[in-house]
Amino acid sequence: MPNAPLPRRLLLGPGPSNVHPRVLEAMAQPLVGHLDPAFLGVLEGVQASLRRLFGTRNAMTLPLSGTGSAGMEASFVNLLEPGDDVVIGVAGVFGERMSEVARRVGARVTRVETPPGRILEDAAMAEAIARVGPRAVAFVHAETSTGVHQPVEAIARAARDAGALVVLDCVTSLGGLPLALDEWGVDAAYSGTQKCLSCPPGLSPASFSERALARVRARRTPVPSWYFDLGLLAGYYGAERVYHHTAPISAIFGLAEALRLVEEEGMEIRAKRHVEAARALVEALRPLGFTALVEAAHRLPMLTSLRLPDTVVRSGEAALRRRILDRYGIEVGGGLGALAGRIWRIGLMGENARLTHVEALRNALCRELR
Ligand code: PLP
Repeated sequence: MPNAPLPRRLLLGPGPSNVHPRVLEAMAQPLVGHLDPAFLGVLEGVQASLRRLFGTRNAMTLPLSGTGSAGMEASFVNLLEPGDDVVIGVAGVFGERMSEVARRVGARVTRVETPPGRILEDAAMAEAIARVGPRAVAFVHAETSTGVHQPVEAIARAARDAGALVVLDCVTSLGGLPLALDEWGVDAAYSGTQKCLSCPPGLSPASFSERALARVRARRTPVPSWYFDLGLLAGYYGAERVYHHTAPISAIFGLAEALRLVEEEGMEIRAKRHVEAARALVEALRPLGFTALVEAAHRLPMLTSLRLPDTVVRSGEAALRRRILDRYGIEVGGGLGALAGRIWRIGLMGENARLTHVEALRNALCRELR
C-alpha cells in the first residue's frame, strides 16, 4: 500500500459523500467487544435513531453488515421463496438490480418499466399488482441512476390492498428526505451509510415490519442465506443480544455519530437544506448549458441528473470529469446504461448539500469551459 497521503476530494458524485470529522473520530475510538454492554448501549441508540429516521416503530430495525446491496439482498432472500410472484418497478439501474436479485432467489418477476428520468406510473403498477397478485411489490424511492424521486403511497396502497408486502429501496433517500414507512405501509426498507448519512460505506440500515417477519416465519423453505436470515439476526439485534456474527463495531460507532449529527440538525431542516442546494445547482449550471433531465416535480434533492452541453458530449465528458477531479479535487458522476456519455449525476448528499460546494463546482466548470 502506498505511503503517500491520499488526495482530499469533494465528493459530488452519486455516493459516497464526504464524511464529517466527528464521524471519523468516532470510528477511531478504541475497540470494545461486540457483546460489551458499552457497545450494546451504542447499538441500542443506533437502532432507536434509525426508527425515528425511517418513520417506523418496527422492532427489527438494524444496521445490517454490508453496503446498500446487502439490504436489498436481505429483503428478497427473506421475503421471497422459489416460485413466488413479485412485481418490481424498474425506473433505472437499481430497479434492474432488484429484478436480478429476486430472479436469483427463484421468484417469478413481473417488471413494470418506465423510460429513464420518469417516475413509475401508479396506474401501471396497480394494473400489474391486480393482474399478478404477487407476494411482494418492490421499487426504489430515490433512483440514483436517473435522479427521480418516486412517490410511494399510491403504489404501497395498491400492494397492501392486494395482500402483498411492500419493499422500498431507500439507499439514497435516508437522511436526505423525510421517510414515513409506517404511514406509507412499507414492510421492508433498506439504505446505505455512504449517501445522505455521510458515513463511509459498509452498513445497510434496514427495517422490517411485523408482517414481513410473519412471512419469514411462515416460509416453507429455509432462508437460503445464513448471513441475512432475519430469524437468526433477531437473536443479536433483538432483546437477547446473543452472538450471530461479529458486528462491525467501528462502523457502528461511526453511524452512531452520523445519526447524532442528523438529529442535532433536525430532519426537516436537513431536508430543506438538500432542496435548496439542488435548486441552486440547477440554476448555477444552466448558464453553462447543463439542463435537468427530470421534470421539477419529480426531481430528487440529493442527486441531480443534468444533460450535458453538446460541446461537452462531443469533446468527451469523461475527459472533463477527469480534469475536474485532477485540477479541482471534485468528483462528479457520469451517466449509467442508456444515459452514459449524455448526463452527469451530481450528488449534494448529507454533509455536502451546501451552497459553497455548488459554487466550487460552478467555478471549476466556468474555468474549464471558457
Ligand atoms: N440502491 C440504490 C438506489 C443505490 O443508489 C445504490 C448504490 O448506489 C444501491 C442500491 C446499492 O448500494 P451499494 O453500492 O452500497 O451496495
